Amino acid sequence: MHADFEAVIGLEVHVQLLTATKAFCRCSTVYGASPNTNTCPVCLGHPGCLPVLNNNVVEYTLRMGLATNCNIRPVSTFSRKNYFYPDLPKGYQISQYEDPICYDGHVEIEHDGAKKKIGITRIHMEEDAGKSIHDLDIDTLVDLNRSGVPLIEIVSEPDIRTPQEAYKYLAHIRQTVMYLGICDGNMEEGSLRCDANVSVRPKGDNKLYTRTEVKNLNSFRNVEKALEYEIQRQIELTKSGGEVRQITLQWDAGKQQTREMRTKEKAHDYRYFPEPDLVPVNVSEAWIHRVKHELPELPGAKRDRFKNQYGLPEYDAAVLVEEKSLAAYFEECCEFLAEKSKDRFKLVSNWVMTDVMRIMSDKKIEAQETGVQPRLLAELVDLFAADVISSKIAKEIFPDVLKGESPKEIVEKRGLAQVSDTGMIDELVINFLKENQDKVAEYKAGRTNLFGFMVGTVLKATQGKGNPRLVTETLKKHLEQA
Ligand code: ADP
Ligand code: MG
Ligand code: ZN
Repeated sequence: MHADFEAVIGLEVHVQLLTATKAFCRCSTVYGASPNTNTCPVCLGHPGCLPVLNNNVVEYTLRMGLATNCNIRPVSTFSRKNYFYPDLPKGYQISQYEDPICYDGHVEIEHDGAKKKIGITRIHMEEDAGKSIHDLDIDTLVDLNRSGVPLIEIVSEPDIRTPQEAYKYLAHIRQTVMYLGICDGNMEEGSLRCDANVSVRPKGDNKLYTRTEVKNLNSFRNVEKALEYEIQRQIELTKSGGEVRQITLQWDAGKQQTREMRTKEKAHDYRYFPEPDLVPVNVSEAWIHRVKHELPELPGAKRDRFKNQYGLPEYDAAVLVEEKSLAAYFEECCEFLAEKSKDRFKLVSNWVMTDVMRIMSDKKIEAQETGVQPRLLAELVDLFAADVISSKIAKEIFPDVLKGESPKEIVEKRGLAQVSDTGMIDELVINFLKENQDKVAEYKAGRTNLFGFMVGTVLKATQGKGNPRLVTETLKKHLEQA
């Protein structure tokens, strides 16, 4: 990016709500059903059919509004947004316009170690359109299963300054909707869709310059890439004396460039007008109060608690709260520890972040499905922390723990308990030093890095069962006397 310019970015995020039925009819919202099977006269747009608002759409929107510190409008209305497209059977989309249900909120993201507030202009409810499928052999086909599926649109203030911040913001939104249980967060399936508005201006200027809008970015990576490209394009255009036009662009991931779609429609082109078939949405104080009360602990709060309660480093806490189910898994493991100490919590965190998460990503499953039972992982950590087994043995028996075997029993059955018998280790060390006097001489002459080799050799003589700390101490003691 150019040093004299800064970017101004505002995101519009569409979130598909996880309600069982559509926004204004009783059709199922399940993804992947055979085309046009989840439809009825209402979502097919037959004349004379009346929409009835699904209460859960409001409930879910309130969750998001409250989780993002928005004000809630006690009375809000729906409007018709008129445009013509084959996948929009009514010829208009039911949306909210002048009085969105949620407004003036904010979220806090963390970037480069600093916290930053991003304003939320509004969150409104609307319905999704159907899907056009462009089949080269036949023609364009339309699937209306998605028609009428509830969405919320979350509009940010133009507070974002870099593509990386945009990425963080989007990640924050995705994490929040998933914690709230209102969206599955699946960007590939279109459950979360993002349009990015971007302009550039000379650094220090507070004015808003003409923006472009990049539509339908279907991955985090694409949002970042498209913004980088578009910012660069606008800066170069401006510097060469050109002028940014207000256009709508599409990101071409193959060519890694933005491409113009169509001149941006002016708002009045949609000929918004109040939806006469729906009554206003009333949200009582009591309703807001209940939803607020029932909000789950959100990622930021959970991360702070993990740092305080378990003494975890920032990094561990952030990784573990990434997904609600992973955080719950970690806590369950800690519950089973025989001794609750920060050292042991950190050991649990290490196991979860390495071995458990490796299985999760290999098999694309949740922590609870990996087969590593929290009770057994806690047992493993306890054995190691109490010096009963070495970390090497712990790693060795992990595959069996994964199969559901108790680490305690494995250790007993196979005699894997660590040798902490001072007499025996003393003897091994003395023997080793006697047989390797040349190494001892070299060590004394200053080749101190031989120490690691010595520890390793003695440990090998114990078949990996020797307590490394004890071996280290004993070696040190004898070397000093040698
Ligand atoms: P529209 O109704 O055309 O979508 P809005 O005024 O609602 O336009 O703004 C949509 C998004 O564009 C918001 O996220 C807002 O923050 C962002 N935005 C508005 N003006 C600018 C600008 N000059 N540069 C970058 N983003 C902007
Ligand atoms: Mg817009
Ligand atoms: Zn329907």
